[in-house]
Amino acid sequence: MKTATLLTSKSDLVQRAYAFAEKAHAGQKRKSGEPYFNHCLKTAEELARWKLDETTIAAGLLHDVIENTDYTAEDVEQEFGPDIKRLVEGVTKLGTVKYRGVETQVENLRKLILAMAEDIRVILIKLADRLHNMRTLNALPPTKQKRIALETMEIYAPLAYRLGMQKLSGQLEDLSFPYVYPTEYRWLLANIKGRYEKREAFLMKIRPLVLKALKENGIEPVALDFRAKRYTSLYKKLLRYEMDIDKIHDLVAFRIIVKTIEDCYAALGVIHNLWPPVPGRIKDYIAMPKPNGYRSIHTTIICTEGEFVEFQIRTEQIHQEVENGIAAHWAYVETKGTKNYSRRLATLATNKEIAWVEQLRAWQKQFTDPKEFIDSLKIDFLKDRIFAITPKGEVIDLPQEATPVDFAYHIHSDIGNECIGAKVNGKIVPLDYELHSSDIVEIITQKNKKPSSSWLEFVKTATAKGHIREALRKSGLQGRILSEKRKKQTELKITAAHQFGLMKKISGILSRSHVNIISMDSTASRRRGHFYLIKIRCDTSDKDKILKIILKLKELKEIKEIDSRFV
Ligand code: MN
Repeated sequence: MKTATLLTSKSDLVQRAYAFAEKAHAGQKRKSGEPYFNHCLKTAEELARWKLDETTIAAGLLHDVIENTDYTAEDVEQEFGPDIKRLVEGVTKLGTVKYRGVETQVENLRKLILAMAEDIRVILIKLADRLHNMRTLNALPPTKQKRIALETMEIYAPLAYRLGMQKLSGQLEDLSFPYVYPTEYRWLLANIKGRYEKREAFLMKIRPLVLKALKENGIEPVALDFRAKRYTSLYKKLLRYEMDIDKIHDLVAFRIIVKTIEDCYAALGVIHNLWPPVPGRIKDYIAMPKPNGYRSIHTTIICTEGEFVEFQIRTEQIHQEVENGIAAHWAYVETKGTKNYSRRLATLATNKEIAWVEQLRAWQKQFTDPKEFIDSLKIDFLKDRIFAITPKGEVIDLPQEATPVDFAYHIHSDIGNECIGAKVNGKIVPLDYELHSSDIVEIITQKNKKPSSSWLEFVKTATAKGHIREALRKSGLQGRILSEKRKKQTELKITAAHQFGLMKKISGILSRSHVNIISMDSTASRRRGHFYLIKIRCDTSDKDKILKIILKLKELKEIKEIDSRFV
């Protein structure tokens, strides 16, 4: 929605809020020098773009009035009624505690969760406010930039993702990335230069073929366009692929939007008829949505010239929902004409995101220790998710890399405590097995069995950790809890061109990352001609740390290849 549209909005409420906020902020300036009211307007425009109701848009215009002007909450109530006052006050309260230190951070997050459970629109306004603040972040001093960007990346972007607002989540991440990881960002820019354009040019070439084949099969696509992978998600993927950009096939993906679900499957058939699919890369998130509600059919095919191309297929309605998540549901219910707010919330209670918010509210009560609360929030609720399935078909939502023990504790603490084994898809697996989405998990239990302290080394959820510690404490095994982070080692195998001083550069990188070298030896690699093979053992098994080191090592032009394994 353009500025002019908001100003000429048919809604009297929005018009009055516009005039009120403009007057209230008159003369105030943002750090960037622009009029303060611009920020209010941009926030409200974003809410309008998400197709939210006029109450929310009006509250968006007024969201900084209580905090930054002479007007009070009572003034807002008198002028606009209790609903809008409650929303504006909700947003104001969220803003008053800053993200500093664990204690205040926790207080802030608890407020956020409660506000969210009470009226999800408070969070939607806060998210729109944060989006504009991130867009204008360069006007702030560097220390503030980093703090705000970090908070956005760790809390708001994952929160938006869990609310199904995929697009917003990606926008927030991409806006934070350069501030949080400046070196990595520069590396990324230097290494992807021109690649996006090259991929798009290639897809442009095959686009007419796709269009023709779809039409020949009676499918009239609503849109046939490209989706460029966002920087942050590309970077995360690169970390998993040893920073090798040639292994990323969905840098730019084809997106086919059609009218009906039937057309989605028909279009998939058409694509597979044109080019052979890569086995194991067909993902039907329409039949089996992701835990955050994401739906689409994905497939990767081997195109002409041997190029891998990813296709994403979905309907128009799904597209709306994928982009706007909970906001789209909100708008959808709104158009059905339910007027009463509490009734509307009741209708929404059936949808996944609201269920998640409810779960979050109940969960946060368990924690008294602030540090544990934060860690657990980040891992149990905001990390990337997988969904595993019980033999009865119930979907269990878990963080990535979760194990059967996490699964067991998620169902019930007794099942966790008495767990002695697990079957995944009918086969016995070790208890530290890494679960994947759509695994069917069966837990084998034995009465009066006690958990093992060694489980603490591999479980991923704070819920499981808490229950295990509790059970150990009760059975008096407390003193024998093993140190959770038993030191492990990593071996790096580096293939490099021989050059004077290289070893020194490598050890410099390792020591700057606070990693100790245990052993280091090099041999001329027979297989690799005049290259050398360097083997380094170091005293960490911290995945993130190792990946960062690999990234830094790859900046050395003498280094051709790096393999790593935990030993
Ligand atoms: Mn604001």
